[in-house]
Amino acid sequence: MVVVIEVDRRHVGGVVEALLVEGATKDDIERLGKYKFRRIGDFDKQNGEIQESFGGIMTECDTDSPIEHVLPREDAECCICLCAYDDGTELRELPCRHHFHCTCIDKWLYINATCPLCKFNILKNGNQSGSEEV
Ligand SMILES: [Zn+2]
Ligand SMILES: [Zn+2]
Repeated sequence: MVVVIEVDRRHVGGVVEALLVEGATKDDIERLGKYKFRRIGDFDKQNGEIQESFGGIMTECDTDSPIEHVLPREDAECCICLCAYDDGTELRELPCRHHFHCTCIDKWLYINATCPLCKFNILKNGNQSGSEEV
C-alpha cells in the first residue's frame, strides 16, 4: 500500500510535493511469523552471590511444528520500546530475523514496511532481486 501525503499543495502554486511513505497492510503484517516468548532464568552462583541472567525462548504460534529460538538475555528485548520481553509476550519476527513486540512492530509497519534495525523491506520479500535501493 502506498500512502501519498501531499504537503502544502496550495502554497507552492500547483506544484505538488508528495512525500511517499510505504506502509504494510494488515495482511502483509499477519503473514509474518508470530511468536510467544517464554522467559527462562539462569541462576549462577558465584562466590556465594546469585547472578541472575534472564534469557528466553520464542516459540512460533499457529503451526504444527513450531520453530523455537533461544534468546540470550541481551537479545530478549524490543528495540522499538527498549523493554525486555515479559513472559508470555507476543513477538513478531521479520524475515531478516529481527524480532520485536507484536504491538510495537505492527504499529511501525503500518507506517513504514521496513525493519527498524536493518531497513529490510518486508513487502519486497517475495521477489528478492538482491539489490536494495534506499
Ligand atoms: Zn516493544
Ligand atoms: Zn531487520
